[in-house]
Amino acid sequence: MLEVQGLQKSFGGVRAVRDVSLRVAGGELLALIGPNGAGKSTCFNMLNGQLRPDAGTVRLDGRDITGLPPRVIWRLGVGRTFQITATFGSLSVLENVQMALLSHARRLFGLWRPVAAEDPAPALALLDRVGMAAQAARPCGVLAYGDLKRVELAIALANAPRLLLMDEPTAGMAPAERVALMALTATIARQSGIAVLFTEHDMDVVFTHADRLLVLDRGAMLAEGRPDEVRADPRVREVYLGSSH
Ligand code: ADP
Ligand code: MG
Repeated sequence: MLEVQGLQKSFGGVRAVRDVSLRVAGGELLALIGPNGAGKSTCFNMLNGQLRPDAGTVRLDGRDITGLPPRVIWRLGVGRTFQITATFGSLSVLENVQMALLSHARRLFGLWRPVAAEDPAPALALLDRVGMAAQAARPCGVLAYGDLKRVELAIALANAPRLLLMDEPTAGMAPAERVALMALTATIARQSGIAVLFTEHDMDVVFTHADRLLVLDRGAMLAEGRPDEVRADPRVREVYLGSSH
């Protein structure tokens, strides 16, 4: 689904991303890991269109999307998890997901109808998938943090993404909630054949839920493989996990 070749980006003298190549298949979860400043977010921003690569190509399902604007890349089915902002916090969980579905429908069919007139069933079905149907009527602003993250996932899924980009999706969550959110993401991705690329600091989450790992160090690829392979790699242990672990 995603094929990245020779991606490069410099900021002034800083080579933030040097020659990164990766592939993610539909239904597969690839974790991009590495110390702070390794170039993970810069990679994400080149994939979602926020940054133009200095060199390299990004292909989505065979189509070259390198350097296209974010909105076009989103329309082609690259989803991201966004934090629900204060404005949307006053809307109910259901309304937030209905808004996202409406936006997706406009993308596909050019429709515009008031949210309240929309059939709630599709939004409720999505909320059911993330385990939030029972809280559909509550304002997003009063939700527990982990529940809010589930709603954000439902909103990302409303766009029917083929590739989901998640940059630190579990930041700020308690360890048990992190594992639960990524378990849910993995289940949905596998059921729906969505390719997922995510960054994550919690190694329990990474080693439990990623199918493959790519380790970046100072912008360059250090190691790649299944979790057990990467965990056993001495270079990774030294640079990333700390040689004492
Ligand atoms: P990570 O997400 O792995 O922590 P980043 O991609 O955010 O790493 O950063 C990689 C490197 O690029 C760092 O040295 C960072 O300071 C630099 N960098 C990132 N974004 C910018 C920017 N907009 N301008 C200048 N330097 C940047
Ligand atoms: Mg980052």
